Amino acid sequence: MRKQERADAILRKLHELYPETACTLDIDENVFHLLVRAVLSAQCTDVRVNQVTAVLFKKFPDYEDFLKAGEAKIGEIIKPCGFWKVKAHYLYEMARMIRDDFNGEIPKTQDELQKFPGVGRKVANLIVSELFGIPAVVVDTHCMRVSGRLGLSSGKNPAVIEKELMKILPEEEWAPFGHRMVDHGRAVCMARGPKCSECGLSDLCPSAEGADAKKTDGKKSGTKKYGKGSKGKKA
Ligand code: SF4
Repeated sequence: MRKQERADAILRKLHELYPETACTLDIDENVFHLLVRAVLSAQCTDVRVNQVTAVLFKKFPDYEDFLKAGEAKIGEIIKPCGFWKVKAHYLYEMARMIRDDFNGEIPKTQDELQKFPGVGRKVANLIVSELFGIPAVVVDTHCMRVSGRLGLSSGKNPAVIEKELMKILPEEEWAPFGHRMVDHGRAVCMARGPKCSECGLSDLCPSAEGADAKKTDGKKSGTKKYGKGSKGKKA
């Protein structure tokens, strides 16, 4: 099967497996809130970020309140997210830049968003795709690992992976595909030991157990084969 045909088939199957999918960080109408949640999500679970930000935004609802509060008070609340000193500094600096550099308005382009500390391409893509209706692939650790195992992307460079996925996916699928990679990465294709025998995509996956015998693209994937009891590579 050609790569594009396989990508189409994987996409159809992902829709069957995960008909409802969405970003697992809480999203409301305030763009600043999602920026904060995304910065806090580095090295932290989305569940914990949602819990912590529920408290944080009750006390400091918007960027002006972050500026009044200062880094120390922000840090006290975000401690459970880890790396709190650095993150508190990022959040305060972000609030300052919104006031001083962007006239109180959060910018709407990936390039401008990436000027904020703690905001890289992944977060910028998340913001524009979730809140500004701009199609973008969010390449996080799950997307990197699962799309790589599925032979839809290569390497470990998120920028390269993003381009590879944009080529083979319809635009309207870019953001939901990223969410479904997270769904699949959490449910079945985990970093430590994918459950290939339980995977609905195994017939289409060059990294599945026994995939050598299957017809995929007519070539082996560069990803590791996972035998019984073997460990998958870390994300
Ligand atoms: S077959 Fe295995 S490696 Fe491939 S997507 Fe499924 S769980 Fe991941």
